[in-house]
Amino acid sequence: MLTFTHDSAGRHDTCAGCCSCESNTVRFGHDTRHLHACRENFILELARHGMTKRDIVPNINFFMNVPISPKGAMTIDDGLSRPGDRVELRAEMDVLCVISNCPQINTPCNGFDPTPIRVIIRD
Ligand SMILES: [Zn+2]
Repeated sequence: MLTFTHDSAGRHDTCAGCCSCESNTVRFGHDTRHLHACRENFILELARHGMTKRDIVPNINFFMNVPISPKGAMTIDDGLSRPGDRVELRAEMDVLCVISNCPQINTPCNGFDPTPIRVIIRD
């Protein structure tokens, strides 16, 4: 559907899925239940296109560092990307890309500080 045409970071994740209010309570405590999460962001945006949570597909966590050991253990580690890093994708067909700039403030993967992203769409 999409082809990487540029990647200055070189590390992304396709295994860890996205955060949700429920998973955040397991990972960080029930007092985080009210915080924003990617799954809920996806559901809100998909609703604008007449879709529901059943339409969510596995996501790509751009710039997220999730090493997997030879024994299969997965960890969410400190990010390796730097300010200004970017990816470029070429759509090979019509696609709907739903983006959540992870609002997570309880994990070191973004330094506990979500920062803005810029998205440019070209014809
Ligand atoms: Zn998230």
